[in-house]
Amino acid sequence: MPPNSRMDREQLRQVLTYYRDIGVKDLMIPRGEAQPQGGDSLQKIREDIGDCRRCGLCKGRKTIVFGSGNENTRLVFVGEGPGADEDEQGLPFVGRAGQLLTQMINGTAAKDGMSIRREDVYICNVVKCRPPENRTPLPDEMEICGQFLARQLDVIRPKAIVCLGATATKALLDTKEGITKIRGTWHKWKDIPVMPTYHPSFLLRAYNVQAKREAWEDLKKVLHFVYD
Ligand code: URA
Repeated sequence: MPPNSRMDREQLRQVLTYYRDIGVKDLMIPRGEAQPQGGDSLQKIREDIGDCRRCGLCKGRKTIVFGSGNENTRLVFVGEGPGADEDEQGLPFVGRAGQLLTQMINGTAAKDGMSIRREDVYICNVVKCRPPENRTPLPDEMEICGQFLARQLDVIRPKAIVCLGATATKALLDTKEGITKIRGTWHKWKDIPVMPTYHPSFLLRAYNVQAKREAWEDLKKVLHFVYD
């Protein structure tokens, strides 16, 4: 069978049986490469998350913030993790950073004559529970929760993904490149184009006028790519 071609269940069973018979005990599945499971759906992913206790973030959370928006969208935004407002309401990007993100999506589209609104895209985070004091998620938290993000993206299969900030960029692109350097350029997660840009929380800081301009440029590029 050529590498990367799909196997059916029987072929997979035969291959696994062969490896078991020659004494292989562990299988390494490359991170982020898992195929969408047959019949996967956002509802099923949420059910699988359940009342999650897989990492330490569960101790401080009120709500699991799964994601929100149009599930049949062509565009997904990925942030870092819920803050206090999101934890309270169970929805991503509803605090100050979220209000800026909403303005950016609605405003950029309107300026360029597109009728795209926040409700038309899907928004989620790398980790679904609020990190204490809003700290950056730890590598193991990102790894554990990242499997659900990967499944969400596999189910939605958008035309493009926007990574908001360094954490989302690192989670999807597995890069060490800083966000200032990598932003505004196209990359790929699996075969889906990914645009890293600044996180709205960073843009809220008063001295970031130049960064704000750059983020609007990045978003404009994405909206035209996805909706033109
Ligand atoms: N910051 C994020 O990264 N995600 C949210 O949902 C809110 C703030």
